Amino acid sequence: MPQKDIQSLKIYNTLSGSKEPFSPIHEDYIGMYVCGPTLYSEPHMGNMRTFINFDLVYRYLLHLGFKVKYVRNITDAGHVTNSAGQQEDSIGKAARLEQLQPLEIVYKYNVRFQNLQQIYNLLPPTIEPTATGHIQEQIEIIEKIMANGYAYEVNGSVYFDVKTYMKSHDYGALSGRKVGELENETRELNSQGEKRFFADFALWKKANEKDMQIWRSPWGDGNPGWHIECTAMSTKYLGDTFDIHGGGLDLKFPHHEDEIAQSCGSTGHAPAKFWMHANMLNVNGKKMSKSLGNFFLPQEIVEGTTSLFDKAYTPNVLRFFMMQSHYRSTLDLTQEALNASEKGLARLTEAIKTLEKISASNESSFDVESSVREFYDAMNDDFNAPILIASLFDASKKINSIRDGKETITAKDKELLLSEMKGFILDVLGITLEGTQNDNRLQPVMDLVLELRQQARSNKDWGTSDLIRDGLKNAGIIVKDGKDSTSWK
Ligand code: AMP
Ligand code: ZN
Repeated sequence: MPQKDIQSLKIYNTLSGSKEPFSPIHEDYIGMYVCGPTLYSEPHMGNMRTFINFDLVYRYLLHLGFKVKYVRNITDAGHVTNSAGQQEDSIGKAARLEQLQPLEIVYKYNVRFQNLQQIYNLLPPTIEPTATGHIQEQIEIIEKIMANGYAYEVNGSVYFDVKTYMKSHDYGALSGRKVGELENETRELNSQGEKRFFADFALWKKANEKDMQIWRSPWGDGNPGWHIECTAMSTKYLGDTFDIHGGGLDLKFPHHEDEIAQSCGSTGHAPAKFWMHANMLNVNGKKMSKSLGNFFLPQEIVEGTTSLFDKAYTPNVLRFFMMQSHYRSTLDLTQEALNASEKGLARLTEAIKTLEKISASNESSFDVESSVREFYDAMNDDFNAPILIASLFDASKKINSIRDGKETITAKDKELLLSEMKGFILDVLGITLEGTQNDNRLQPVMDLVLELRQQARSNKDWGTSDLIRDGLKNAGIIVKDGKDSTSWK
């Protein structure tokens, strides 16, 4: 039986720009921190792609037999998002608009987020700490940074002193951004305000009259900067140095660069050995984002109510679609690609069912161990799920050939292939076998009902057509009319 070859795992490290062999810092567990959502609205499918990608990483590390401490925070403190000094507190803004307290907003969207994690079969992290639950820790780190001479206070706010830091550290080591280039980008904004240097960033911001969340600090009432919360929560749960820090590619700068500066400025060393960045989910080549308005909600896609598609897709199909692209590649959300994933997924799950049923022979006509080896090789190569899926498809072809009598497999090899294929499809890719397609027992009944509805529509009998649709809706079944066909969920 192929060993779970832990030594072969290589991970692309943004810090070095190359794939590096992975070995954990601690013998007994891997520490992984991933930047979580800012819950001022419902996470969109783009956000979910990043969390699904890190769920894949988490699942594979578990599959290899590692113990993993997986920390993913929830940003529930309003933070400064604009370094030019125009404070835009997204949670506070949502609270004002919805006439709720900031933590009511966060709670409301966290309930949705937790629900989405279940729908999309994400394993819960070890802990999901909140920024507001760790204000004291953030203050203590700021104090250390100040004591080490890398931060200064002005008028109740505290800023990280990038110029002083740069004398002994490489600011830009992660993102490759050069301060000179940044200065050109920032020049037009020229609202440096209290900062000594344009690249300095806020560790603590003095309260203003708009703030709905305010905390006491040694520098007066105010609220923490955005980057400091992740430094506080990652090091609290994982220690001063841990194995993996992840997040979306758009967080590389300034968020992650500043996290490194904060750790070096307080503990004297960088927080994480490996920095992993997941690439963006795009719509028509553009990053899906709240601000561009080109976002789709995970729930809408499952219910088939988006303007983008004329039918519903199961969470399994969405997950499989995401796994068919490497986490460091961009991925465009299109109906064509989802349809292809739907077919591909059905082929794979069918192959498992076929393998379960086929009878074994005295010998195997193909090398099952090397097929299984390919699964591990793909995932050991920086979590290459698309290559894993290609290997799973190759194995499925062999299974069909065995079914057709063209190839053979021994009972031992059958057992090995079945357990490894199930392990990779269910445990690693996070696909569930149930619900891959609409409930099979209902399908013949629904075929009949939709046929009757189609006949009514052909006869322009809209009353009957609507009666069927509304009746199904009351029974919890949503019907969606596409260009060529009608789907249901
Ligand atoms: P936010 O709630 O905006 O802080 O984002 C939460 C996470 O989602 C971060 O890791 C972002 O990098 C990630 N993210 C935001 N937009 C996208 C997108 N279109 N595709 C993939 N990840 C995204
Ligand atoms: Zn973060």
